[in-house]
Amino acid sequence: MKYSLTKDILKRFECSKIIEIEHYKDVFSRANQDFYLQKQSPKLILAVKQNNLIYKGAEVCEDFGNKYFYYTSIMMNCIYDCEYCYLQGMYTSANIVIFVNIDDYFKEIRELLKKHPVYLCISYDTDLLAFEGLTNYVGRFIEFAKVNRDLTIEIRTKSANFTSIKDLEPQDNVILAWTLSPDGVIEKYEHRTPSLKRRIEAIKNAVDKGWRVRLCFDPILYIKDWREDYKTLVEEVFSIIDGEKIIDVSIGLFRVSKDYLKRMRKQRPNSIVLNYPYDTIEGVCSYDRELGKEMIEYVYSLIKSYVDREKIYI
Ligand code: SF4
Repeated sequence: MKYSLTKDILKRFECSKIIEIEHYKDVFSRANQDFYLQKQSPKLILAVKQNNLIYKGAEVCEDFGNKYFYYTSIMMNCIYDCEYCYLQGMYTSANIVIFVNIDDYFKEIRELLKKHPVYLCISYDTDLLAFEGLTNYVGRFIEFAKVNRDLTIEIRTKSANFTSIKDLEPQDNVILAWTLSPDGVIEKYEHRTPSLKRRIEAIKNAVDKGWRVRLCFDPILYIKDWREDYKTLVEEVFSIIDGEKIIDVSIGLFRVSKDYLKRMRKQRPNSIVLNYPYDTIEGVCSYDRELGKEMIEYVYSLIKSYVDREKIYI
């Protein structure tokens, strides 16, 4: 047990049954697992990730104008259970994997930084801030960014757990990015996530402490009364958060690869969100062009009353 995080985590789960495995993929990547069933009581897998620790950013993800856009998955899967989450289509297991060799990630990032600046999203295939009490990974990355100034990191979250990093010094090259949805969407489709009120409180605290904060209205869903619900959301957010203090905003429709959606529908055959008749363009499923345009333009028109247009990414 050469990794200190392994020891720390095992101490937290002294009553748990520990099963040693050869390679995490032997368990995690098996075929014919029931993602949805595992999601009800996910198990924790501690592993060491070898090779390819940093990936090029995907086309479907907003790069916010960064030329050298990368992401990394130091954890796989999430404690939250959003009905529209693409992880259900990407992984065969809902068990949570934590890669304990964070120093190897730092080493690979340092190598990349020798070539050019790096914009790195560290919380795509999980919600890293939600796990901060267990891993301290957000704190470790922030400390790493503090001494590697050509690195910019984005930490995306739905968590209200800002308190876990509140004592750290805000860094110019760290972006805390909160995903926001109308209350009705949170209740119906973002199972186990903090309420909108708690997310807004966390954002307010972060902004007041001087952190650079990004707001992500993404994915926008075509729900009944979507106009009213997104209007209420935007008004509620900016009644508490000063739009001028936000570094930028992203707006995005629900979109997912065709192959993932097929698997997601299998996991949740009764999901209204997943079984909507999406259009497929170049292998990506989303709302048809006209409806999508209408939804984006509408939400954009709401947000531009509070945030400069050049800071809104679509
Ligand atoms: S918070 Fe993000 S990663 Fe977690 S279940 Fe929801 S969509 Fe998936």
